[in-house]
Amino acid sequence: MKVKQTKMEKRYKQTGYYYAKYYSVECPKCHKEATVSHDGSYWGWKNAELKCLHCMHKENRADLLLYEVTVRRNCPDCGKQISAEINNLKNPPKEMNVTCPDCSFSAKYTTNISSYRLVNKLNGMKGDPLFNYPLWLQGEVKRNLFWAYNREHLEEIRSYVDAELRERQSLYLMTMVARLPQFIKEAKNRDDILKKIDILLKR
Ligand SMILES: [Zn+2]
Ligand SMILES: [Zn+2]
Repeated sequence: MKVKQTKMEKRYKQTGYYYAKYYSVECPKCHKEATVSHDGSYWGWKNAELKCLHCMHKENRADLLLYEVTVRRNCPDCGKQISAEINNLKNPPKEMNVTCPDCSFSAKYTTNISSYRLVNKLNGMKGDPLFNYPLWLQGEVKRNLFWAYNREHLEEIRSYVDAELRERQSLYLMTMVARLPQFIKEAKNRDDILKKIDILLKR
């Protein structure tokens, strides 16, 4: 396959943005293909969405942001330590009522607020960087995990793997290749990778 360098550089400008713009992932509800997307801005990244066109399941990344409030201090009445915490809150209160377990003195105290994000746990699979749901396009090649963010990305990898050695010198390919795992760059894996890519493209 021979592709003119100018054409490829142009494609890079479009698809280089693509990689981070949307991700094909496995829907957490129906386990079919869903899409994680955002508009590329800071707020868009925070408000990234998962949408599944198979079961219509939707998730917003902003909903994964939760708060924990804690009160740790000494009881003003008896001096013993009191401690209380509530987590998984969407709207953390600035104050909360705590009753001392020793003397039963009850008062309203200022809370310490901290935030955290719920992250999906994966078992040795590659997830998208926003929700960490398993990428739809992934599989093993000679015990290496092979993956792509989306179909365009997969096509780019195929262009690279399929290309003649001299074409690998182009700036476009060098830039893209820097992001690929080493085993994809090894000539001896070429046929196995191309086979895997063709299987994944039909998923
Ligand atoms: Zn679904
Ligand atoms: Zn007390």
